[in-house]
Amino acid sequence: MSKQKKFILEENSIPTRWYNIQADMPTKPLPPLNPATKRPMTVEELGRVFALECCKQELDTEHAWIDIPEEVLDKYRYYRSTPLVRAYALEKALGTPAHIYFKNESANPLGSHKINSAIPQCYYCREEGTTNVTTETGAGQWGAALAYAAKIYGLEAAVYQVKISMQQKPYRSSIMRTFGATVTGSPSMSTRAGKDIITADPTHPGSLGTAISEAVELATTTPGCKYTLGSVLSHVTLHQTIIGLEAERQMEMADEYPDMVIACFGGGSNFGGTAFPFMRHNIKDGKTTEFIAAEPASCPKLTRGVFRYDFGDEAGYTPLLPMFTLGHGFKPANIHAGGLRYHGAGTIVSQLLKDGMMRGVDIPQLESFDAGMLFARTEGIIPAPESCHAIAATVREAVRCREAGEKKTILFCLSGHGLIDMTSYDRYIDGDLQNYSIADEDIEKNTADLLHVE
Ligand SMILES: *Cc1c(COP(=O)(O)O)cnc(C)c1O
Repeated sequence: MSKQKKFILEENSIPTRWYNIQADMPTKPLPPLNPATKRPMTVEELGRVFALECCKQELDTEHAWIDIPEEVLDKYRYYRSTPLVRAYALEKALGTPAHIYFKNESANPLGSHKINSAIPQCYYCREEGTTNVTTETGAGQWGAALAYAAKIYGLEAAVYQVKISMQQKPYRSSIMRTFGATVTGSPSMSTRAGKDIITADPTHPGSLGTAISEAVELATTTPGCKYTLGSVLSHVTLHQTIIGLEAERQMEMADEYPDMVIACFGGGSNFGGTAFPFMRHNIKDGKTTEFIAAEPASCPKLTRGVFRYDFGDEAGYTPLLPMFTLGHGFKPANIHAGGLRYHGAGTIVSQLLKDGMMRGVDIPQLESFDAGMLFARTEGIIPAPESCHAIAATVREAVRCREAGEKKTILFCLSGHGLIDMTSYDRYIDGDLQNYSIADEDIEKNTADLLHVE
C-alpha cells in the first residue's frame, strides 16, 4: 500500500477566520508607544500610517477570531489550501524515526507566504479609499507579493528594496515591476531619511530598517498613501494564521498532531502564523507542543537580544515596540537569507518568548544551506535561504530523535522557494559562503540606550 504524502483541503473548506492569539495569551503583549509622548499608541494615531482596519487588528486583545472578508477569501482560493506534505524522503535520508511534515507556502505564484497578508492589507486600503501603497522589502518576496496584491485591487505600489538584496536578487525587482510597482534601492536620495543615512555612511548596503524609514516617510508625506508591512506587526501575523489553521485540519487528515512546530524567523509572521493555532491548544487544552523559531546566527535577536522598547526602523519613525532586539542601529551581515536580516522580533512573539512558551535557535549560514541542499535533493523543492533555517532546525531535531530513539512528529513551515535565489546556491556550491558571528560587546553597544521595560 502506498503511503499518503500530501494533504490538501478543498477550495471551499479553507478556514474563514484568522486566529488572534492576543485574546488568549496569559500575559498580554505590552502596547506600542508613541515615541514623542511615551504613551500607548491609539488606533487613530496608527491609522495615519496604516489601513485603519489593520490598526484595529493590531491592538485587538479581545477577539480570538476575526472573520476573513469574503473578497479576501476569494483571492485566497486561487492558491489555497497549500499542501501539507509528509517528507518521507528527507526522513529516510536522515534515518530518523521522527515523522516530518512541512506546510508548503512556496506553492503559490509569488513563491512565499507573504501573499497571505499582502492581499488583506491591500483589500482594506482599497475599502478605505486609499489610492497608493508603499513598503520596504528585503529579499523582495514581500515587495513582489505587495506589488501583485496592489495590482488586483487597483492601487499604485512604491517599493523600497534593500540595496544589497537588490544586487543579490535582481529578478525580484523584475517581478515587482512586472506587476506594475515602482522599485527604489534603499538607502536612496529620494527621502530625507535616505539622504541622512547616505550622508552618514555613503557605502551603507541598506537594511530592512533603512527601507522602512523611507517607506514610512513617503506614506506620511503623500496624500492617499498608506504604508504596509510584511512582517513584525501583530496584524501581519494574524493574517498568516491561515497557514497554521489549515495545517491543523490537514494534520487531522494525516491522523497526527505535532510535538514540535518549527519555522524560520525574520520578524515572526510565518512562525506565528504556523505556530499560534497550535499554541492555542497548549494554552487552552493542555497540549505540550514545543515551538521553535530558527533565526540566523548572524542576527540573533531571540537567542542573544535584549527585551526593550525599540523602534521598528533605523531612523526611528515607527512607534516604539516592546521587543527582543539587537538595537535598531544594528547592521546585520550580508547573509543570503535577506528576509531574516531584521534587528527585532514582533511584540507577541517577544512576550511569548519571555514567558517561556517558545524558544529560539540560531543557525549558522553554512548549516542552513547544508540543510537546504539535503531538502532539495530529497524532496525536490529548492527552499528559500530563509526557509533553509527552519529545515536546519528540523534536521537538528530529527537527528536528536534518531539518537534518542524518539518517534516525534515535527511540522515545519516551508515559507518560500529559492528559485530566484540561485546565485546564493551557486556561491554555496562553489564554497564561497561563510558564517558570520557578532560579538557580545556589539550587542551591548547597540542596545545600551534603549528604553527599559518593567
Ligand atoms: C520574509 C520571509 C521570511 C521572514 O519573515 P517572517 O515574518 O519572520 O516570516 C521567511 N521566509 C521567507 C520565504 C520570506 O519571504
